[in-house]
Amino acid sequence: MSAVRASYHLLEKYDRPVPRYTSFPTAAHFNHDIPQSYHAHLLSSLNPAKSISLYIHIPFCRYLCHYCGCHTKAVSSDQPVQTYLLYLHREITKVGETLSCRPHVSHIHFGGGTPNIIGAGNIKILIEKLGVYFEIDKNTQIDIEIDPRLLNPETINDLSIIGINRVSLGMQDFNPDVQNAVNRIQPFEKAQEDVLALREAGIRNINFDMMIGLPLQTRENIQLNAERAISLSPDRLAVFAYAHVPWMKKHQKLLEKYPIPGTRERHDMNGIMADSLLNAGYEAIGIDHFAHENDPLFKAKKTGALHRNFQGYTCDQAETIIGLGISSISSFKGAFVQNTTDPKEYRDSLKENLFPIRRGRVLTDDDLQRSRIIEQIMCYFETKLEDVENPDYNLTQLDELKRDKIIRFDGDQLVVTEEGKSFARVVASCFDPYYKLEEGRHARAV
Ligand code: SF4
Repeated sequence: MSAVRASYHLLEKYDRPVPRYTSFPTAAHFNHDIPQSYHAHLLSSLNPAKSISLYIHIPFCRYLCHYCGCHTKAVSSDQPVQTYLLYLHREITKVGETLSCRPHVSHIHFGGGTPNIIGAGNIKILIEKLGVYFEIDKNTQIDIEIDPRLLNPETINDLSIIGINRVSLGMQDFNPDVQNAVNRIQPFEKAQEDVLALREAGIRNINFDMMIGLPLQTRENIQLNAERAISLSPDRLAVFAYAHVPWMKKHQKLLEKYPIPGTRERHDMNGIMADSLLNAGYEAIGIDHFAHENDPLFKAKKTGALHRNFQGYTCDQAETIIGLGISSISSFKGAFVQNTTDPKEYRDSLKENLFPIRRGRVLTDDDLQRSRIIEQIMCYFETKLEDVENPDYNLTQLDELKRDKIIRFDGDQLVVTEEGKSFARVVASCFDPYYKLEEGRHARAV
């Protein structure tokens, strides 16, 4: 089985900066001041009959990967981490005391940064603290992003005991030269040991995060990465494209002394990775995920229950996600609210018993309609349009995409063609009235 490759002509034409559309409107367009009282209203109006999800952000890492685009800080001592945890607990109290019910939690996701930097003991204490205000039970899926360099058999055992049932291991690339260039050394043998130990400890849902487009990567080394990843049988893989945005992330400048793969190479590498995974029995999920048939994402895709949120593709059906911690985003039915990214502001707000919120977006009916269209394109590569000729859509761009056979229309159904799948984000951008082509903050389409 082979993933269809786009022609080089189309790659040259459409490899442009476009949002990843993990939300619509994207976080770049959260420009509403959200009053404290409005956030309190959103939290206190939750429907007790509906499960919610929680996202907890840990904005620290032990080492800085030079490709990193996350909200994080490399720290060598534990003191800033402990101080942060103190305020994170205060935030949980503030949010918890605002709720008017004790909602059931379907998913808890620890993201970062490096969540495992706080240690299994602190993760346990955080879950217990959340349990004061939220209903957490055996059906609650608890996921954590893991930096394997900070993982050892003892921690694995502790994570299993506290009920972590899915881990995402940041693998990125198994080649020592690439690892050295990006400042992330983690031998493949360690990955083998970790996966074995996780399974032995009963943590059976294992995701790998891999990357394409890093400096020194070659087509051959992507082939080897794919083979090595497959040999460890992860349930799910996310294959992220490296976003080189040194004007926003200054440390990425350090990578410019190495050859960085261009558009054609990245596209070929994506194809090589996809072919290997498809031939190994994985199912392609959206633009950059792959799932084994025993993974819930696989089933979600087949049953139309696949969604996209700030963590990427998900089978989580919760309408509400409450984000806790610096930079985290809460998602409600008609609004997004984002916490501050400034550590001092985060602490100062909580000292004054305020929500540490900074900005957000209250969605109009039109936003909600576009959000549905964009999510369908990103998840299923097709969407039904009520009004194909709606002048508010970017009809000129849609016409051009149609001429280039990136999309086609089956009646009122917009379908992204096999060749066009590499440009799904460009297609989605036709429905995003806030997107401007000259915006330099986004990763390129391919
Ligand atoms: S471990 Fe992850 S979050 Fe931390 S610096 Fe590396 S890429 Fe960034």
